[in-house]
Amino acid sequence: MENESTCWDCGKKMIKKNVEYSLYGILIGKFPALVCDNCKETLFSEETSKKITQLVKEKGLWGLQAKTKVGQAGKTLDIRLPKKIIDFVKFKKGTEVTITPESQNKIVITV
Ligand SMILES: [Zn+2]
Repeated sequence: MENESTCWDCGKKMIKKNVEYSLYGILIGKFPALVCDNCKETLFSEETSKKITQLVKEKGLWGLQAKTKVGQAGKTLDIRLPKKIIDFVKFKKGTEVTITPESQNKIVITV
């Protein structure tokens, strides 16, 4: 990786820095990257990306994003959570959660 580069997003200079990478709120580690001083665009080398992917897999966080379908139970709708998501968030039957709409196509479920 070159020490300096130009940001593809805003055209300003990118500088080599060590940056923390987190996924789903879990810190994966600190990695070398090119960071734009202006827009904070962060670029990892192919080698670093492969290393991050490997660590994400080791931590069992790979492929957590999943598709599910909205079902119906009486007059309300329900959304089934896939097992790997349940294992990650540790929800149980009876766990009390708060549902917060962030927009018309996104809701956040918080314990
Ligand atoms: Zn930039």
